[in-house]
Amino acid sequence: MSPRSADHALPENPLTPRDAAVSGPAEHAAADRLAFWAQQAGQLHWDTEWDQVLDWSDAPFARWFTGGRLNVAYNCVDRHVEAGYGDQVAFHWEGEPGDTRTITYAELRREVCRTANALLSLGLTAGDRVAIQLPMIPEAVFAMLACARLGLPHSVVFGGFSPAALQSRIEDAQARLLITSDGQYRRGKAEPMKANTDEATKDTPSIEHVLVVRRTGIDVPWTEGRDVWWHDLVDAQSDEHTPEPFDAEHPLFILYTSGTTGRPKGILHTSGGYLTQAAYTHRTVFGLDADTDVYWCTADIGWITGHSYIVYGPLANRTTSVMYEGTPNTPHEGRHFEIIERYGVTVYYTAPTLIRTFMKWGEHIPAGHDLSSIRVLGSVGEPINPEAWRWYREHIGGGRAPIVDTWWQTETGAVMISPLPDGRAGKPGSAQTPLPGLSAKVVDDQGQEVGRGESGYLVLDQPWPSMLRGIWGDEERYRETYWSRFADHGYYFAGDGARYDEDGDIWLLGRVDDVMNVSGHRISTAEVESALVSHPTVAEAAVVGASDATTGQAIVAFVILRGGAAGTEDVAAALREHVAREIGPIAKPRQIMVVPELPKTRSGKIMRRLLRDIAENREVGDVTTLADASVVDLINAGLKGGT
Ligand code: ATP
Ligand code: MG
Repeated sequence: MSPRSADHALPENPLTPRDAAVSGPAEHAAADRLAFWAQQAGQLHWDTEWDQVLDWSDAPFARWFTGGRLNVAYNCVDRHVEAGYGDQVAFHWEGEPGDTRTITYAELRREVCRTANALLSLGLTAGDRVAIQLPMIPEAVFAMLACARLGLPHSVVFGGFSPAALQSRIEDAQARLLITSDGQYRRGKAEPMKANTDEATKDTPSIEHVLVVRRTGIDVPWTEGRDVWWHDLVDAQSDEHTPEPFDAEHPLFILYTSGTTGRPKGILHTSGGYLTQAAYTHRTVFGLDADTDVYWCTADIGWITGHSYIVYGPLANRTTSVMYEGTPNTPHEGRHFEIIERYGVTVYYTAPTLIRTFMKWGEHIPAGHDLSSIRVLGSVGEPINPEAWRWYREHIGGGRAPIVDTWWQTETGAVMISPLPDGRAGKPGSAQTPLPGLSAKVVDDQGQEVGRGESGYLVLDQPWPSMLRGIWGDEERYRETYWSRFADHGYYFAGDGARYDEDGDIWLLGRVDDVMNVSGHRISTAEVESALVSHPTVAEAAVVGASDATTGQAIVAFVILRGGAAGTEDVAAALREHVAREIGPIAKPRQIMVVPELPKTRSGKIMRRLLRDIAENREVGDVTTLADASVVDLINAGLKGGT
């Protein structure tokens, strides 16, 4: 039987997108939420059935599927091979220099087994933590799955992070092993990686070994006895390994938030509930067909989106994915479109920041490629500006592909609010409604739900399977950050502002910390930014509220002009007028600063707190999670140079 034939679909096949969209499972799910989740969990392979779907008796510490036992890696890999899909491609991997590798499920299984055997040979046992700092290469996936297979919680650190950021994450988790590479390709150049990780591990006695993948072939410093080459150790291992089941609540990974609002938090996720929701949301939000789709999520593996929507969700669903190592403009600005065309990508999931970058480069670039394979587009990371939404739909989605605008967080583990890829996925800028089985509300200061047309705070009023189980080693910060604000109601406080429109759909307004108060009016940064981006001269915009003697806060806008143009008095005046017209005179920025770049995190989010420091002439705060720390100097230099 052909491994991809339709009659060989997983017997437990889930909600089809059609069911999900048409027959009102949202109502059904809400009526019996726990039965709904039991049904979703039933799509996975459990070695031991659970006793109880949810134990919320120790709230806010949830336990899902108590007593159940499963192996996450077995669910993502082996069971597909056993079901006859060994020849199906798991990953079409493409390196930045143009090298490629096709990895089937059978091969993935062999690689994960070898890696697991290698980790065992280093003396690791279930519960030990493993830090991983790797570029977007297949070994990153093998390493994560090998950890999952052995019950070793991993802590993946973005490849572009500094030694200081890596060091603090290793220390926080007390990792015994670090997995890294000699170097990584960035914009066509081989940059050192091992040299940085050596810097990070100078003072981390918990690290016993460093396992090093040879990616670029550059010279590396070496510590005999501690450092081991991947190709020496892993390649020599047996490709057979029998997985052992772990408790549903066994820790799967620790992952740090992107640090947009403050010091990053080490978010803890566990096994059964996390995998259940990652898999469920992945197949529902994208209406996934494992037999025909070619799926590409462009996130980095060091971000929660990479965990849930490159590794765990897609693999649990037996997806064929594309994985790309490099930057989108190496060697040219059409690289992504070339990849979509080459592999016939049907589902493309990316972040608004990249869409705005594509807009800046120009629509003639996607127009030069055949993108007709695309069926669904996804967006994640920040509110998508309506302007960017329309451009995405028109120039990447051929004017027809639905856009799923997915709201979620590192803490939620998986998507919570998103349109389904049906006729309703058509409201530019709105994430619309919680998915079936999930619940969210917009409430006021007192925790009372606001009405249609009103705004307030986004809360999650029901526990969900992939919810964080805490902040690693900091129970108090967990309670304080998420559960204290609406303690009387028992709501999880997401930290985001939101609004219901007249249809009752949800619009995200950005961080509560970022909401500005101008002369007593609450104005969202997202709205002012969208207004600025809708002006033809503006490529990107970031808005902050800076303290102001007369208005309390005043709006300061940092903008990048299209084609990198320099700012003039006329441009600034035109933009201020434009915002006044789009939103109202109250939203008119006090200052417009034209800058060459914006400070962004690894996941492409704008770090407004640093811009606020600049706008208020303060020393800038913690920059360790910036994708490129030199951007702050660049902005400061430009502003001192004067526009
Ligand atoms: P920190 O919590 O350390 O400040 P962070 O919140 O940036 O970091 P993430 O967990 O990666 O770290 O980001 C989650 C946040 O991203 C959400 O709270 C929300 O503000 C934003 N976000 C994600 N997706 C969307 C979306 N589709 N629409 C609007 N905002 C989104
Ligand atoms: Mg956050």
